[in-house]
Amino acid sequence: MRTSIATVSLSGGLTEKLTAAARAGFDGVEIFENDLLASPLGPEEIRARCADLGLSIDLYQPMRDIEAVPPEEFGRNLRRAEHKFRLMQRLGADTVLVCSSVSPLAVDDDALAALQLRRLAELADGFGIRVAYEALAWGRHVSTYDHAWRIVEAADHPALGTCLDSFHILARGSDPKDLEGIADIPGEKIFFLQLADAPLMAMDVLQWSRHYRCFPGQGGFDLAGLLGHVIRAGYRGPLSLEVFNDVFRQAEAGPTAVDALRSLLVLQESAGLTEPPAPVVPTGIAFAELTGPDVEPVSELLEALGFARTARHRSKPVDLWEQGEARVLLNTGPGARRDGTRLAAVGLESPDPAGAARRAESLLAPVLPRRRAPEDVPLDAVAAPDGTELFFCATGRPGLPSWTSDFEPVGHPAPATGGVRRIDHLALTQPWHQFDEAALFHRSVLGLGAQESVDVADPYGLLRSRAVTNADGSVRIALGVGAAPSADDGGRAQHVALATDDLVTAARRFRAAGGRLLTIPANYYDDLAARYEFADGELETLRGLGILYDRDAGGAFRHCYTETIGRVFFELVQRDEGYRGYGAGNAPVRLAAQHVRRPGR
Ligand code: MG
Ligand code: MG
Repeated sequence: MRTSIATVSLSGGLTEKLTAAARAGFDGVEIFENDLLASPLGPEEIRARCADLGLSIDLYQPMRDIEAVPPEEFGRNLRRAEHKFRLMQRLGADTVLVCSSVSPLAVDDDALAALQLRRLAELADGFGIRVAYEALAWGRHVSTYDHAWRIVEAADHPALGTCLDSFHILARGSDPKDLEGIADIPGEKIFFLQLADAPLMAMDVLQWSRHYRCFPGQGGFDLAGLLGHVIRAGYRGPLSLEVFNDVFRQAEAGPTAVDALRSLLVLQESAGLTEPPAPVVPTGIAFAELTGPDVEPVSELLEALGFARTARHRSKPVDLWEQGEARVLLNTGPGARRDGTRLAAVGLESPDPAGAARRAESLLAPVLPRRRAPEDVPLDAVAAPDGTELFFCATGRPGLPSWTSDFEPVGHPAPATGGVRRIDHLALTQPWHQFDEAALFHRSVLGLGAQESVDVADPYGLLRSRAVTNADGSVRIALGVGAAPSADDGGRAQHVALATDDLVTAARRFRAAGGRLLTIPANYYDDLAARYEFADGELETLRGLGILYDRDAGGAFRHCYTETIGRVFFELVQRDEGYRGYGAGNAPVRLAAQHVRRPGR
């Protein structure tokens, strides 16, 4: 279906918004009146700019407080409307959005509302314009889609139809049964469809709408179900995003527009309208690649953790470190010098690397060059929203290129001794404005399942965290972000969590090898004693090593942390099979301990 986006959904001036929408690949835009008023371009210039960019102007919005008012007030409203219709003619827009009235002058009289909307439609018709009447969830007398439709039906004018807005419909918490009536509206009378999702929140609906709308798939509404009803009604107009959100208002328009279009592609797939290449769910973590200017401290840390340096890239300063099935690449090449030590790339084991890349490309993920250097094995890779490179790997599988072919084994590597079996999870820090997008990206592009989002108190702010995982837990990625733009995202650490079956032994070995574990305050252990029962001596052991403890219905989780190098630290974890979390309850204690260790605090 055609795609459109309201200019209010993007940041910047009108020209920037139009350029971003066109570059992302939208077919059209809704022009929000305030964006036009603030633009130095005249209506004809805006029209020409849109034509140059290949964008249709699908809607002009909004016209407010028109209907069900006393006659003299309605006369003034018609004069105001006529003025806007002349402007729309210059703009080349043929549909105007009229929201249900919130005016204190409006009366609860459907017959009067219908009569006056008919008069408005007659006037609009003379200008070749159609009126789309939308129920605001906080409309004074009309606040539901079916009420708005009854008035449109009673007004009975070909230039009058209804606009359905998913936020206003779903924010009322309607019973799914109430939505079935949408399919009974004649498709040609649904003039427009605006789509927005929102996180499920208990708050004033106007504030909720103005500040927390998000793109489809980022919130908690069943938009695919709603879209199904609208399609069954026979609607064939554009799918248009109308998303007001404090975050997008500040984020760069270009990437936001791409994320927005991706959300519409995913929605159409969920509603069964399109069939892009199917997701290829990763089956494991092939490697984590750290880049950094200085090989020494990271090598020492890996050695203390019991990793062995087993191979070196044939042509680049990249070392492969292994222990059990955990593989860490340490890249000290020229590109690594810029940002300090960080987790720059992740290898995901994929049953079909080329298929995974096709899926990613169909959902607008930036595809990376297949070879980083001419002599490298070709690998399928895309960039995640935070810039992390994701490689789709077939490690050592016959018939498929394997990244390991680029590596030459080093003679007589030391045996791996730390008791680490595999990578348990990776924690990636997202830019503050891309948290919801990151979750949608990992779900839709990679086919991972998203767990609930959790808020974690940090001594200097608030962190949000959301994990994405495959069904058997062999791929777990914790996406985290500071909740405010002021949060120092660049400095927020990423981590690689390593799974062991015996954390106490692993932690002791690490210390004996010269490793330093993060010191956890005594108060934490006093509180643990109050919350859980431990076997004799266990709590003392945990306290002695700085091991944190958590438990959920599925079992226990024990974990401890190394010190941080650049932006990266390691976590050692022992996870009972049924435990689903990441020790989020302990994160405030960990964050506070890390702040203590940071120079300058
Ligand atoms: Mg709307
Ligand atoms: Mg962790």
